[in-house]
Amino acid sequence: MALRTGELYRCPSDGCGCEIQVTRGAKPGGGGDKSPTCCCGMEMKKVD
Ligand SMILES: [Zn+2]
Repeated sequence: MALRTGELYRCPSDGCGCEIQVTRGAKPGGGGDKSPTCCCGMEMKKVD
């Protein structure tokens, strides 16, 4: 799913713990469906 405004994503790595918030979502149909990747290289997980 593309990134949407306001979503939180957190790094699953215990040694990192970085968290990001989307301040501007992807345009419909233009943003793909990949999760963001953290600076440490892990794929970030959406926080529900
Ligand atoms: Zn990380």
